[in-house]
Amino acid sequence: MLMTNQQMDFFLKKIVDKKNIMLTITEKCNIKCAHCNKSSSPENSGEVMSKKTINYIFNQINNEWTVDIFGGEPMLYPDTAIYIAKKCHEKNIMFELLTNGFWGSDRKLIKLVKEKIKPTVINFSLDSFHNIDYKILINLVEEFKDNKDIIITFTTVIGHLHPKSDEFKKYNITNIYDPLINTGRSEKYCKYSIIRGPKIIWCGVLGFDVRVDNSLYFQCANKNGCKISNNILKENINKIYNKYVFNIPKFKISRNQIIPNIYSICEQSKLYYKWNDPTYVEKLSDEKYEKLKKNWIMDS
Ligand code: SF4
Repeated sequence: MLMTNQQMDFFLKKIVDKKNIMLTITEKCNIKCAHCNKSSSPENSGEVMSKKTINYIFNQINNEWTVDIFGGEPMLYPDTAIYIAKKCHEKNIMFELLTNGFWGSDRKLIKLVKEKIKPTVINFSLDSFHNIDYKILINLVEEFKDNKDIIITFTTVIGHLHPKSDEFKKYNITNIYDPLINTGRSEKYCKYSIIRGPKIIWCGVLGFDVRVDNSLYFQCANKNGCKISNNILKENINKIYNKYVFNIPKFKISRNQIIPNIYSICEQSKLYYKWNDPTYVEKLSDEKYEKLKKNWIMDS
């Protein structure tokens, strides 16, 4: 699947500029993955992000920003996803729907995504943790593979390739590799500690995550760390961005290599990840870490 220039711009804004707001619209999920760092499950409360919060955020952001619609599983609450999508379309903001893909053979939900949500990107999970029948995911890919306006990508947890991942190769889908974040149910699977502290040199998933209770985190954090605000309704998003995200990593990026060139460093754990290699996690020596630190200016 070839990305259009507009879709490339989405990734540049999101990953390089890091002007990204992830809206965790629910912590409920239809499944209960063993590694879920938000401990989402069918038993979780069905509380959904309020329109007041959504309106507050959209009053402050413009199309320099990108938005993620996330959960839990956001497609359990398509009305909220549609509400956010409408806001994005009104302001010409590109956005991503992050999902486990359970709706890949549900005609009604597919129609809603194609005709009402119309995200710039659909990213679905594809790894050994996610218990969604891969045939449903193949169906989802088939539904969108010729849709020029919506690009499909998938995310795999580093080191946990889906047993049927070969079946997806022919679609030439960009695969994003994410490390585990050791909060929630994920803790016991973390081979390395990857606690993300408030001082981040650069993190591939850095942006902001607004939760259902209006609290604000760095995207790479979770309930155990990097909480920025207790109540997003009292914060100015652009001020937060200027305070925390003012340094762009100095790596060269070409349009057709946007994902393969991405890597992350976590200051707290001194771990180095490559997004294009599912098995690569390097524990940096102090010397190498200090060398990298010199080139990449820190925020604090
Ligand atoms: S990892 Fe994703 S799909 Fe799995 S339980 Fe958590 S929110 Fe649901």
